[in-house]
Amino acid sequence: MNRKAVVIGAGIGGLASAALLARAGLEVTVLEKNDAVGGRARLWEEGGFSFDMGPSWYLMPEVFERFFELFGRSRQRYYELQELSPYYRVFFQPGQWVDITADRRQVLDLFESFEAGGGRRLQAYLDRARYKYDVAMKEFLYRDYTSVFEFLNARMLIEGTRLNVFGRLDRSVRRYFKDRRARQILEYAMVFLGTSPQAAPALYSIMSHVDLNLGVHYPLGGLSAVAAGIGKLAEEQGARILLNAEARQIRVDGGSHRVSRVITSREEFEADVVLVNADYAFTETTLLEARYRSLPGTYWKRRVIAPSMFILYLGLNRSLDNLVHHNLYFSEDWNEHFDTIFEAPSWPQQPCFYVSCISKTDRQMAPRGHENVFVLVPVAPGLEDGESFRERYADQVIAHIETVIGERISPSIVVRRIFSHRDFISDYNAYRGTALGLAHTLNQTAFFRPSFRSRKVENLYYAGQYTHPGVGVPMVLIAAQVAAGLITGGSR
Ligand SMILES: Cc1cc2nc3c(=O)[nH]c(=O)nc-3n(C[C@H](O)[C@H](O)[C@H](O)COP(=O)(O)OP(=O)(O)OC[C@H]3O[C@@H](n4cnc5c(N)ncnc54)[C@H](O)[C@@H]3O)c2cc1C
Repeated sequence: MNRKAVVIGAGIGGLASAALLARAGLEVTVLEKNDAVGGRARLWEEGGFSFDMGPSWYLMPEVFERFFELFGRSRQRYYELQELSPYYRVFFQPGQWVDITADRRQVLDLFESFEAGGGRRLQAYLDRARYKYDVAMKEFLYRDYTSVFEFLNARMLIEGTRLNVFGRLDRSVRRYFKDRRARQILEYAMVFLGTSPQAAPALYSIMSHVDLNLGVHYPLGGLSAVAAGIGKLAEEQGARILLNAEARQIRVDGGSHRVSRVITSREEFEADVVLVNADYAFTETTLLEARYRSLPGTYWKRRVIAPSMFILYLGLNRSLDNLVHHNLYFSEDWNEHFDTIFEAPSWPQQPCFYVSCISKTDRQMAPRGHENVFVLVPVAPGLEDGESFRERYADQVIAHIETVIGERISPSIVVRRIFSHRDFISDYNAYRGTALGLAHTLNQTAFFRPSFRSRKVENLYYAGQYTHPGVGVPMVLIAAQVAAGLITGGSR
């Protein structure tokens, strides 16, 4: 008889884990509370528009290629990729933007135009980031840490000091660049990791290698097509995916300290092993009896929880002239915005923002002559987002975007949906409405992230953005490989 595995959650982390466990011969059932796969990377369709609900940047393409190769499959069988041109547009003040492209000369010249010697220093910065990335891929990302000593091993101590892994990212960037625009381009991706450049370890300069050296791609059909592709792969391997199946309890057998079954509102599922992709904090504090929790309740209160996000899905009945596929706005003093997230939680008044228009690349995602617009403002977790407040805030954000990009949006809106804290909680059981789980501060990195294995329950495992290596679609694909390896390697 095959071992029975129950995977809770069909986010990309859960789907990828399910595919790997099924390939290893386990009988896999995935329980997903929502009516679609993909978790944060779901699709929402309305009025002829197809919106990616969450992630929209396809970064680190090699991680995806490697994942499909594990199954002897090519990624092309599941979705097509297109390199974006430009990679993205950055607004530094209203009406003024620069484009970042695949043309290295253009980007070096841009940095040179920011400050004398900027081009040469960017090349040096990126060379170093490339080296750090290669070391991280080889040594640090695809592995489990069971003790702090494994993390602080000889290689890490040597490389860590040499590469200034443990310093602060903002200080490290400041050593190369004085110009705020140069620094913002090299630091903005920290928001993707749920942290600020002041709190992020300098290790994460690898993110500049990721966007500027490896490039920004787009999977046709959006990131939700990637999730659907991995879901299809899981089913091809034999996994069964059940939608509208919310796990209500993980029942542990007191004698053996093993999970015996997972309970939903309709059914009970026997399990020889359980892998949780659902929110780690929610699972620990709600699905498990107190005595089987690995981490005390105070643990979550003391962590730096990653931002939530105020999101607008807008369908426009015309296309926008001043925007490209990915657009970012960095205000002159973006620390004011970071402070509203990390220091004094409140709604930012003139926020930095990200806007994507995937219909610029993929005409299937909006009716002809229309634009698919996704707006994202990072905000502190745990804020009140009452109905009338968020409608007013949405109007304010749209007016602000119009000023920055120099183009009207509001008269052309034919579809409008708001998604913020309360939706993250109701849709994903997200702790305090966080969009990204745990921030990537130094003491929430690698060994210091919540463990893949339960400390109390023999056959209970976790994978997803809370675990190592952390936040982001490529990262959860890596986490799935580590977690599935722990289960199928029989290392307990
Ligand atoms: C708005 C936004 C933009 C982002 N942009 C990017 C980007 O551009 N590029 C990038 O790489 N990353 C991005 N990220 C981060 C990335 O999306 C996530 O890190 C990743 O998708 C998390 O995957 P996961 O499998 O860990 O979790 P999730 O996607 O959250 O999946 C967890 C699943 O568990 C389900 N679940 C919860 N509770 C239960 C239960 N009790 N029973 C059954 N099922 C349950 C949930 O419904 C969900 O489907 C973004 C995230 C957000 C929110």
